[in-house]
Amino acid sequence: MARIAIISDIHSNLAALEAVVKHAGTVDGWWCTGDIVGYGPQPNECIAKLLELDVRCIMGNHDHGVLNLSEIPWFNSTAGDALVWTETQLTPDSREFLTNLPTTRVEGGFELVHGSPRQPLTEYVMSADIAEQSFRRMTEPVCFIGHTHVPSSFAELPDRQETTAVHQLPETGQNLDAFPRMILNAGSVGQPRDGDPRAAYGFLDTAARTFTWRRVEYDVQRTQDLMRRAHLPIPLIERLSEGW
Ligand code: ZN
Repeated sequence: MARIAIISDIHSNLAALEAVVKHAGTVDGWWCTGDIVGYGPQPNECIAKLLELDVRCIMGNHDHGVLNLSEIPWFNSTAGDALVWTETQLTPDSREFLTNLPTTRVEGGFELVHGSPRQPLTEYVMSADIAEQSFRRMTEPVCFIGHTHVPSSFAELPDRQETTAVHQLPETGQNLDAFPRMILNAGSVGQPRDGDPRAAYGFLDTAARTFTWRRVEYDVQRTQDLMRRAHLPIPLIERLSEGW
């Protein structure tokens, strides 16, 4: 059996990442669905932690943006300001790590993308409609995504021809064989946006064929203090307390 911890949207928040690592305990592997940097104060430290854990990663739009500052106009102003700051902080090793990230990958028969199978870097899967479009582009029955920072799941119904997606989040975890195709979002480690400031992640159990969501408290103030010291935008600092 393999128990894989799935993480996403760390956004340079080392305090949140460390809390998740401690909470997860011993696992058989780590997979990350992108946005390692941006917004937060410790990009290099987060990359070093991922290397230490041998995390299988893909690229997020912020990881791409920091390597391509000409894309800054595509981001909102606070996100763009944080990316410009991040670019000044990256070590050559961190830059190389981000540059080598693929935009999609398949691990053990599971697909990993940041946005959606249709647009891996940029599309937000927030609705059944978008999920339905994405199911058609999937190469594997289950795809893990990030980008929205909201723990969520979308499933293709076996007996429906038209509306083929449902949005649900069972407390007991999701049985991966219950639907022909599923899109699962573990939520965001470093900047949750569902009104719950705790770091979000999840466990894939490849033997039991389940995925379960987890939340863990972390030292939000530690990250906020570092952000203040780095003169990162105030709204980005404040939102961490609220979880949006
Ligand atoms: Zn993100």
